[in-house]
Amino acid sequence: MADPTSGNATSGKVVVKNIGLLLSGDIDHPILDADAIVIDHGRIVAVGRQADLDTSEPQVLIDARHTCVAPGLIDSHVHPVFGDWTPRQNQIGWIDSTMHGGVTRMISAGEVHLPGRPKDIVGLKALAITAQRAFDNFRPGGVKVLAGAPIIEKGMVEQDFADLAQAGVSLLGEVGLGSVKAGYEAQQMVAWARKHGIQSTIHTGGPSIPGSGLIDKDVVLEADADVIGHINGGHTSLPEAHVCELCEKSSRAIEIVHNGNERVAIAAAKMALQLKCPHRVILGTDGPAGSGVQPLGMLRLIALLASLGGIPPELAFCFATGNTARIRQLDSGLIEVGRAADLVFMDKAQHSPGRDLLDSLRLGDIPGVGMVMIDGIVRCGRSRNTPPATEIPVIVG
Ligand SMILES: [Zn+2]
Repeated sequence: MADPTSGNATSGKVVVKNIGLLLSGDIDHPILDADAIVIDHGRIVAVGRQADLDTSEPQVLIDARHTCVAPGLIDSHVHPVFGDWTPRQNQIGWIDSTMHGGVTRMISAGEVHLPGRPKDIVGLKALAITAQRAFDNFRPGGVKVLAGAPIIEKGMVEQDFADLAQAGVSLLGEVGLGSVKAGYEAQQMVAWARKHGIQSTIHTGGPSIPGSGLIDKDVVLEADADVIGHINGGHTSLPEAHVCELCEKSSRAIEIVHNGNERVAIAAAKMALQLKCPHRVILGTDGPAGSGVQPLGMLRLIALLASLGGIPPELAFCFATGNTARIRQLDSGLIEVGRAADLVFMDKAQHSPGRDLLDSLRLGDIPGVGMVMIDGIVRCGRSRNTPPATEIPVIVG
């Protein structure tokens, strides 16, 4: 068998039957009328009613036992360094631990915690290319980490962005964490990045740690990055009125993070719904950070929005899956033929008073994860980190 930490492992035919609730990740149709998924070579090849699908001769048959299946969660904002180690809190195994929280994909917002991180232009480019390659070749717990997100610095010219793009770098780290902090300067570099197919994210709000700085709403609007990174601060948020103004005046992605201001997280999500642009909302943790590593951060954020924020939980799951996949042009995040078979199986946590999984989220309980699959391969059974799921899927053949 291929090494599961490399990108080369793939499944044969896999059938998932007896799905109790199938969340699609699609904000326009968040719940599917289907109870089975057929997978081949790591991709979804059919979704529907079991009786209508070719479920014959699978190499792996999974009985979901009427639990909920959703696309694997995509953490839109992480700060990896190398391997499964973070120097921020000096922890190892944080990505594998996060997979036990239902996350199958992560997007780097910059490898900013690397001890001795180079800030000269050739150095920052070399780091981005190395990080992109390293995480492309190594998947802790099977998690796909899209890394290699350079922190832009003063003095960069268009050719630097062309070089990065040509070398396989597809995203910028948080604009504002380096020496480029003025709106006009950021705007120029964001435009160069966009021209060369590199997506950008801007730090929003107060400084995260000593040494970083404030990025206010006017800079965010002028820079016009593709993603308004941690619109609810990381941790310190802009005033709520300014956050609502950003939602209204910009058409870019509204990224809400776990390690931000929770009150403003709810305000931003509500504002997006009020403005009828829920498809712009994406979720991340902004971990590892000063507040630690949160393997359950994505589930906690979904529960926060669904309970205190009153956001329908099936929509909150779309914020964490399909919305991010579409905005970041990923091949996962939706239960759809042709997409990567990255799935999380969940049920309400044991002893939650909720009637079912969605109801338990409305009451503020995080679900229990019973299985995680990436590229059609089962990466874990009952999560070691979530509260125990009431029911879990079983591999029956
Ligand atoms: Zn930040």
